[in-house]
Amino acid sequence: MIDLHMHSTCSDGQNKPEKLVEIAAAAGITTMALTDHDTINGLERASARASQLGIDFISGIEIGSQGGRELHILGYGVDCNDKGLKSFYEDNRIHRITRRDKFIELLNKLGIEITAEYIADVNDGKSTGRPHIARALVNLGYAESVDEAFKKYLQTPEFYSYDRPKPYYSISIEMIRNAGGVAVLAHPYTLGLDDMEFRLLLKKLVMSGLCGIECYYSRHTPEQIEYYRNIADEYGLIFTCGSDYHGPDVKPNILLGRGYKDSLIKANVPEYEIIERLKEKIG
Ligand code: AMP
Ligand code: FE
Ligand code: FE
Ligand code: ZN
Repeated sequence: MIDLHMHSTCSDGQNKPEKLVEIAAAAGITTMALTDHDTINGLERASARASQLGIDFISGIEIGSQGGRELHILGYGVDCNDKGLKSFYEDNRIHRITRRDKFIELLNKLGIEITAEYIADVNDGKSTGRPHIARALVNLGYAESVDEAFKKYLQTPEFYSYDRPKPYYSISIEMIRNAGGVAVLAHPYTLGLDDMEFRLLLKKLVMSGLCGIECYYSRHTPEQIEYYRNIADEYGLIFTCGSDYHGPDVKPNILLGRGYKDSLIKANVPEYEIIERLKEKIG
């Protein structure tokens, strides 16, 4: 089984990079990529553990980007020590802290007693994402689940007005390419675009250097998989497969390699072709 999209504690996943690799090994994953949000910090640790456990490891990153919509761009085969990506992470870490503090103020005004220290406990004091705030809200009893915390507090207009600046997609693709990586559009269904809109955007992404589409994704329906596969073929793009595993406390219904309710098992993922073509592009 393969899985090319997952998160560790270096971003908003629940497990440390080493532990994540151990869970992957136990789940029967043979090729994996770690794709933390906006950071390559976990790659060396994960890669070392993967080689001990005999798992084929591909370095990765997922960059939250803008361009009309929120676009997530995956980068595969990036250099684990790339200076450009490291300095991007540093800038972004500061934006995330600023955002967290503004948001705490907002929650406090609503009568919710939450502090930066409390949220830091949830995420080991590292990069703060909305899922960390959501988990803190659940632990404090302000929401039943992470999902409810998102709906009640973290997907509101007030929150979005405090959101952090994100790079334009062309910049994200350029950063990935400069780090020696291959850029792939993550979970395209989240864009919510119709066929014409999607093609228009895809053309611009390809002109900026995009190489592939994450056609096999936990939340894609069989129809969506077929649709994105056809488009990938038409535009000469590669296709990839990922669960977007974050751990049971963050995304309870997503399993490594299997997706949502075994969606990736049912999809008969062409694993060999995916890995061969991706590695060919990485070079
Ligand atoms: P951020 O980049 O900090 O704004 O947070 C975005 C992250 O929140 C992404 O990793 C999403 O996967 C995650 N996310 C969005 N909605 C939900 C949800 N309802 N439950 C859990 N995680 C979510
Ligand atoms: Fe995430
Ligand atoms: Fe994403
Ligand atoms: Zn992700």
